[in-house]
Amino acid sequence: MILDMHAHVGRPNYSYRAAEFTNDDLAARMKQAGVSKCVVFSFYDVRDNEYISDACRGRDDLIPFAFINPKERNAREQLERMLGKEGFRGLKLHPFADGFHLNNFKLVDPLFEVCEHYGTPIICHGLADNVYNTVYAFAEMTDRFPKVNLVMAHGGFMWARKEAVRASKTRPNLFIETTCLYPDGIAEGIDEIGAEKYIFGSDAPWGDFEVDILKIKKAARRDEDLEMVLGGNLARLLRLEAR
Ligand SMILES: [Zn+2]
Repeated sequence: MILDMHAHVGRPNYSYRAAEFTNDDLAARMKQAGVSKCVVFSFYDVRDNEYISDACRGRDDLIPFAFINPKERNAREQLERMLGKEGFRGLKLHPFADGFHLNNFKLVDPLFEVCEHYGTPIICHGLADNVYNTVYAFAEMTDRFPKVNLVMAHGGFMWARKEAVRASKTRPNLFIETTCLYPDGIAEGIDEIGAEKYIFGSDAPWGDFEVDILKIKKAARRDEDLEMVLGGNLARLLRLEAR
C-alpha cells in the first residue's frame, strides 16, 4: 500500500499555476499511480484549513493535517479544536513561509503539547533554505518532545541532508520525508539510519507520483525497505492499522 505524507489541495494564491487543485484532481492522480492514501494540507500561501476539512470529509483516501501559524494568537485553541473535534490527524508547520523559528519554544511548544496529547505527528518544512528551520531546530524540538513524531519535509535537500541523517540517527522520533532529496542521498541515508526513518512524500501537485515513486524504488533497493518508505512507516505514525 503506497501512502503519501505530503500533498496539497485547495485554491492557491500564487504558489501554483492553476487556480484550484481539488480532492478529485488529486484522487485521479493517486488512482493512476496506485497511491492508496495521501496526507493533505493547504498551500502555504493561503493556509485554508476549512477547504481541507471539506475536501477530506467522508473520504478514506485523504488524511487532513492542520496548517497553523503559531504566531496567531489563538493557534493553540485552533489546533485543539481541529484535532479534537474536526477530524484532523496531524499538524503542518512552515517556519519559512510564516516567519517563525521552529525552536522558538514560547511560540511553538503549545502546538507540540497539543500534538503530544492527541498522539498526532507533525510535518515541518525542512529544506535547509533559511534560518527558521535548521536541522538544529528539528533536533531541539524532538529532544524537547520525545513522544512527538516530527517529520522533516524535504530532508534538508542537498546541503543539510547528512546533518539531518545524523540528527535522526540518535532520535527515534525524527523522520525524514523524501521530497527534494535525490535517490543517491536517500540510499546513503538508508544505509546509515535504516529505511524506517524515511517517509515517502510527493509534494503534489508540484510533484508527480510516478516520478517520485520511481525515485524511491531506485533508492530503497530491498523489498522490505521499499515497503517501509512507501507506506509502512507512515501507517505506523498515523496508527492506520489500529483504526
Ligand atoms: Zn509542500
